[in-house]
Amino acid sequence: MKPIYKPKGAAAEYGDYAVNIYTGCPHRCYYCFAPKVLHRDREVFHSCVWPRNDIVLELRKQLRQEVITGQTIHLCFTCDPYPTGYDTTATREVIKALKEYGNHVQILTKGDGSRDFDLLDGEDWYGVTVTCGPKDFAKNEPCARNPFDRLVDLQCAKREGIKTWVSFEPVLNAEVILAVIREHYDLFDKVKIGKLNYYPSNINWAQFGQKAETLCKERGLDYYIKDSLRAEMDKP
Ligand code: SF4
Repeated sequence: MKPIYKPKGAAAEYGDYAVNIYTGCPHRCYYCFAPKVLHRDREVFHSCVWPRNDIVLELRKQLRQEVITGQTIHLCFTCDPYPTGYDTTATREVIKALKEYGNHVQILTKGDGSRDFDLLDGEDWYGVTVTCGPKDFAKNEPCARNPFDRLVDLQCAKREGIKTWVSFEPVLNAEVILAVIREHYDLFDKVKIGKLNYYPSNINWAQFGQKAETLCKERGLDYYIKDSLRAEMDKP
């Protein structure tokens, strides 16, 4: 097993390298793509969550053999690095190993990663996903951390001098996302915005994308519109 890999397709818009630490994720987001990507039963994916076999050992072996250094490595695509209610020591050990070899991490979570802030510095990124507000997350992401608390974590990370980012993908509630950008833009060093794919939505994507982009520009935010949303905005 080689834990560090180069993501392809839409995932490549998030980073050049990534590590997936756990076998599954308990957050149960209804739009989760991971079981499909991994060809795993959805229920098994959400209920069987443990560190992948020898993940830290194999990671250290790969870092040593391939001399991977100076990279920013995304955690994680097919799971969450901070699965709520589970022991996340494996994530801590992965971060330690990556940084020992001169790499940086780009964390993305719907859990609570604050336990590892002491390992991060001004070249690391702590990011959270926000798709909707505290009122709708219980039905959309029933076992994840409240989105409001995720933003508070981001604020704490920023205070610690860690770079912060938000993935607004998939956008489930356009008004909430626009309000978060409008009111909390000063918490984010970077934002990425993407549409909901493969599931129905009554959001007018072109209109939402244009409003979001205008807001980002007005607030001086470093932003990236994911390709599928950009395509909707560019439609004649
Ligand atoms: S946090 Fe990510 S990996 Fe976990 S259930 Fe939600 S979408 Fe899937």
